[in-house]
Amino acid sequence: MNSQTIKETYDKYIIHTYNRYDVVYDQAEGATVWDTDGKEYIDLAAGIGVNCLGYGNSEWTGAVIKQLNKFQHTSNLFYHEPGAVLARKIVERSGLNKVFFCNSGAEANEVAFKIARKYGNTVADIHKNNIIYLNTSFHGRTITTVTATGSCGNQERFGPLTPGLIQIEANNIEQLKEAVAQYNPCALIMELVQGEGGVTALDQVFVDAAVTLCRNNDILFIDDEVQAGIGRTGRLFAYEYYGFLPDLVSFAKGIGAGLPIGGVLAGPKACDVMVPGDHGSTFGMNPVVCAGGAVVLDTLDEPFLAGVREKAYYLRSQLEAIDEIESTTGLGMMIGINLKTRDFQETAKDLIAAGAIVITAIDKIRLLPPLTITYEEIDKALEVFRKVLG
Ligand SMILES: *Cc1c(COP(=O)(O)O)cnc(C)c1O
Repeated sequence: MNSQTIKETYDKYIIHTYNRYDVVYDQAEGATVWDTDGKEYIDLAAGIGVNCLGYGNSEWTGAVIKQLNKFQHTSNLFYHEPGAVLARKIVERSGLNKVFFCNSGAEANEVAFKIARKYGNTVADIHKNNIIYLNTSFHGRTITTVTATGSCGNQERFGPLTPGLIQIEANNIEQLKEAVAQYNPCALIMELVQGEGGVTALDQVFVDAAVTLCRNNDILFIDDEVQAGIGRTGRLFAYEYYGFLPDLVSFAKGIGAGLPIGGVLAGPKACDVMVPGDHGSTFGMNPVVCAGGAVVLDTLDEPFLAGVREKAYYLRSQLEAIDEIESTTGLGMMIGINLKTRDFQETAKDLIAAGAIVITAIDKIRLLPPLTITYEEIDKALEVFRKVLG
């Protein structure tokens, strides 16, 4: 198929839930992508923060293909080594106690909600099952995670929504205190660095207040690190910056490096709440994806993460030196860009047309480059920015 036929086939056969940019992917290497017409792009989006090792990483593809040649799947009624290895690695690096693997970010948050609800209904002293979420949040596309997603603004179309989810304003400590007093929640959920909701890191004082409220009132702190986790911010998990251990941490995007996997890490209060029969996933914990995930964690050691922080600092400071750029937001390689005068959506299209793959979030340009992006690739992308915004 040529690019025109591909696009027409999408329009005819695929339910229209996405407005796509005008690029048909053909091949990729490192952080460089070529479309079906042979045009080159620097990829500053990595899917949506998924391809953290870029494209064609030989250790990752090698591990994936090796496992693919052994066996591609077993049900969770049996054991396999890649699952054991990945579980041990991620639990030991996180400081939490146990993990459950599923296939996506939304599914991971669903697991966290189920654990929190069961904890509130059965383990906590008083029967409680409300969950607090933030107005600028994004937690997924299932009915319950969409209910907990303040940033999309169109939940009601899918009603009736899941009961027991309470919205408060991000960074509003008073509202949080009032909601805790009024609704007696079993959990609260937040992204420490919000992605879809505008690429902003929550205030340290707000997070500190939330952590204290959780400790004092036997509330589980669910930290959604689906986007911010797995090295994206320059630390393995964003909670390392905030200096606490959440009770539940959902993760997905980066750990798969391009293949579908998600999961929830659970600390001491939450790790033994679930028993056989409480939850499951047919595709969850796929051995091929787990084998790749282990390479991701091995690659993301401390020197590598220090390099990510340095590259992020370089990219941000070079972007901020461009006149049209008002400021950058977010943390590490999770970058939001505020423009001074230009429309962000038009600018995203212009940047892509000029050879830099970017995405957007609310009212910003958003960059989530592969963590392995080279300085050479960063400089090429910066040239595109200077050309388009100059
Ligand atoms: C992407 C994302 C999700 C949803 O993940 P899916 O894999 O698309 O279900 C949930 N939370 C956050 C913070 C995300 O960025």
